[in-house]
Amino acid sequence: MAFELPSLPYDYAALEPHYDAETVEIHHSKHHNTYVTKLNAAAEAAGVSDKSLEDILTSLDNIPEDKRTPVRNHAGGVWNHTFFWHSLSGDGGGEPDGAIADAIQGKWGSFEAFQQAFGDTAANHFGSGWAWLVANESGELQITDTHDQVCPLSLNQKPLLTIDVWEHAYYLKYRNVRPDWIAAFWNLVNWAEVNKRLAG
Ligand code: MN
Repeated sequence: MAFELPSLPYDYAALEPHYDAETVEIHHSKHHNTYVTKLNAAAEAAGVSDKSLEDILTSLDNIPEDKRTPVRNHAGGVWNHTFFWHSLSGDGGGEPDGAIADAIQGKWGSFEAFQQAFGDTAANHFGSGWAWLVANESGELQITDTHDQVCPLSLNQKPLLTIDVWEHAYYLKYRNVRPDWIAAFWNLVNWAEVNKRLAG
């Protein structure tokens, strides 16, 4: 069974004006789709086509070293983007409530302090990659960043929220000004989904 490009949970224009329809369409139908196509070739070559994405990403060490890099890059590329799309909603943004609000308050003292710390990590990430809110192995919340398409599942972490800071994620609308993209992102965060992930 080949891997397939998952549909978005909304229309390409649903995240306007914070995330423009043109970028969302290219990001999903070209960038995300290319990871799917290349994953199918890499997984076939490595003999893991029958495994789930999660199985692949949590057991990369089982893949022969000479076949591992393209599987890691493209499996991560597929999974990270799907997770990213579901982290956003046209009805999102604002401050979280429920368990995630309490956990953020407990760790950072305030939502504003968390936003600042997450935004700094995203802004200061050098080159292509992702900033994440994860729960680490002890269940403690942590802000991290990963390079290229490294997925927190491969690091024994439970991902809760992410922002894509590859230039392809924001360059059409925000040009070289990554902090403007990060500011826009806060209007879209799907906190209900983050709460589900925390509980799951
Ligand atoms: Mn991307």
